[in-house]
Amino acid sequence: MDTNSRKDSRLPDQLRKVRIQPGIAPNAPGSVLVSFGNTSVICGVSYEKRVPHWMLQQGVGGGWMSAEYSMLPYSTQQRKQRDVIKGKQDGRSVEIQRLIGRALRAVCDLSKLPGYTLWIDCDVLQADGGTRTASITGAYVAAQIAVRKMLAAGLIRENPFSEAVAAVSVGLVDGRVLLDLDYEEDSSASVDSNVVMTESGSFVEFSCSGEEACFERARIDEMADMATLGIAELLRIQAEAIAAG
Ligand code: UDP
Repeated sequence: MDTNSRKDSRLPDQLRKVRIQPGIAPNAPGSVLVSFGNTSVICGVSYEKRVPHWMLQQGVGGGWMSAEYSMLPYSTQQRKQRDVIKGKQDGRSVEIQRLIGRALRAVCDLSKLPGYTLWIDCDVLQADGGTRTASITGAYVAAQIAVRKMLAAGLIRENPFSEAVAAVSVGLVDGRVLLDLDYEEDSSASVDSNVVMTESGSFVEFSCSGEEACFERARIDEMADMATLGIAELLRIQAEAIAAG
């Protein structure tokens, strides 16, 4: 066997099998179950006719959008205690939910959501690496489905999303750049990167961290190129899911 081959026989620039299934949570105006291989996340989007207090106080018009991220206790190999039982939210979850909110707000004109807050809830059903990138990719689809309902109900006049946004991980494992790392690859990566990109090819986030390792500038370009290919594929899958949802 080729020692360079990936566990699931993927090519270095190949995504895991990506599925986006709309309508998974019928009470949410927009919802999907998104899976990247064995990683699955439920993304539900709801709207509320109110905005944060600070917006009213500061006279800021338009609407708001906020995200929450959590891992279900059985989503990890070892049961993960719920934050509510621990009495405090996991720092990692806070970092991830801020990233999800930023990613979606980057492609959203909040003035087109007057008086409304869109809540983006991402709950990890099964974690096998790349839960934040799957969350962003699925959340955009769920948000578009929710917005379509708001438009049909006459609650808003224009679609606030100007373009799509998707995310993927990329990393350096045993000296090779690989796309969409699973947990095993992620844990042995010397460089770990998460890339959030819009349809027009702009970055919302490009994080690159050496895990007890350093990396050259050329590797950044290589990772950016590979992530760009992955994002193009994800944008196609998102568009199909929005049409089906
Ligand atoms: N993970 C876990 N428990 C945790 C945090 C992470 O089992 O409390 C696993 C999970 O498979 C996750 C992976 O480690 O997908 C990588 O975590 P990371 O923080 O890099 O975020 P992600 O890749 O999921 O966005």
